[in-house]
Amino acid sequence: MTTTLTPILTKTWDQADSFTLRGYENAGGYQAFRTALGMNPDDIIQAVKDSGLRGRGGAGFPTGLKWGFIPQGDGKPHYLVVNADESEPGTCKDIPLMMANPHVLVEGIIISAFAIRANHAFIYVRGEVLHVIRRLQQAVADAYEAGYLGTNILGSGFDLELVVHSGAGAYICGEETALLDSLEGYRGQPRLKPPFPAVAGLYGGPTVINNVESIASVPGIIANGADWFASMGTEKSKGFGIFSLSGHVTRPGQYEAPLGITLRELLDMAGGVRNGHRLKFWTPGGSSTPLFTDEHLDVPLDFESVGAAGSMLGTRALQIFDETTCVVRAVLRWSEFYAHESCGKCTPCREGTYWYKQMLKRLEKGEGSEKDLDTLLDLSDNILGRSFCALGDGATSPVTSSIQYFRDEYIKHFEQGGCPFDRAASTAWA
Ligand code: NAD
Ligand code: SF4
Repeated sequence: MTTTLTPILTKTWDQADSFTLRGYENAGGYQAFRTALGMNPDDIIQAVKDSGLRGRGGAGFPTGLKWGFIPQGDGKPHYLVVNADESEPGTCKDIPLMMANPHVLVEGIIISAFAIRANHAFIYVRGEVLHVIRRLQQAVADAYEAGYLGTNILGSGFDLELVVHSGAGAYICGEETALLDSLEGYRGQPRLKPPFPAVAGLYGGPTVINNVESIASVPGIIANGADWFASMGTEKSKGFGIFSLSGHVTRPGQYEAPLGITLRELLDMAGGVRNGHRLKFWTPGGSSTPLFTDEHLDVPLDFESVGAAGSMLGTRALQIFDETTCVVRAVLRWSEFYAHESCGKCTPCREGTYWYKQMLKRLEKGEGSEKDLDTLLDLSDNILGRSFCALGDGATSPVTSSIQYFRDEYIKHFEQGGCPFDRAASTAWA
């Protein structure tokens, strides 16, 4: 189900043939790359810079700036890698996008590769989603058949080979350098940065790694112009994005809207919190972003405003929890996930996420004391900023923010010697 204020990426999702080459072309697809192939690659990079597009994978790094770091005239092969390893808890925007409209991604890849002068591109997609892998493979095969990929594309002299590569189901392989290791055939573990992939990435060559939604936004920018894109959103967070609403919401799904929309507005579109219940807490961008509460309903969902309010926009995975949810149990579930997915390379994350899990299990059962909350915060101080990659930092977010907003609820667990919530009343315990 999609509702859109900016029907761009989601415009055709409800059409039966939206995922086919013909369906995409009938909707105006594969025109932007014809325009792009007639442009100077540097002008494409400038257009993406001027649009203000920022990385849609969560970090919000300016896309055009990243492309501009690729050295030119260096004689080395350049690579474009699309990060389709979507696995942040609650995040479910790239997978529906690739299912409903894989060709907008393929067209974005052709334009982006041409801009950074790459002749090889990869889509690294998580291994669990076989249906998405098949859909991408079909789209890529159709694009080759149409002459949009391969050698001398439409007589332009530009060559591009595009490979769909499936991962093996590790969350850490969404971290861009672990993804590169995995793509090269090694165990996926993060590399030291710098050098950033733009300088030394896949096989040591200059590499742009972008999220699916970032690359899928590029054809629209070329077709409609940088000003069109920049006219949406806020001053520093331009354009639109797909917001995924899940959990205790009447109509969960994907809502495409300009950056800067609020959760209150999105909930209005989604029918509100499920009938008879009220909002308790939510994640603005997946579980790696600090929790928000009903105090934050009117925070504009752009990079700056969410940051100023104490969290991060992240992947715009808005997981909604009502008053039937035990926050301690929710945080325990996320901590179990991080402990399982920690790659083990660095001590603060490997050991810290294990101890989170152990301590939260006890606390949720009502064992322990308020002193344990200080130990949890101390542990968080030893993970945050001391871990090798963002996974460790992200693991601290639900823990510290839940203690900040719901200390009383933790205490209630010790006082009652157990969880005060009736689990049967909630759907959060999947
Ligand atoms: P980051 O801020 O370190 O980097 C973001 C991007 O900018 C990277 O591509 C990086 O190479 C580039 N970059 C940053 N500084 C640069 C520089 N000086 N020179 C050249 N390039 C530079 O963030 P990250 O660790 O890559 O990602 C963290 C984000 O990932 C979090 O915000 C989180 O929301 C998101 N995340 C997403 C998912 C998902 O499923 N989509 C899963 C986990 C985390
Ligand atoms: Fe691995 Fe965690 Fe360290 Fe990242 S922070 S390198 S996932 S152990």
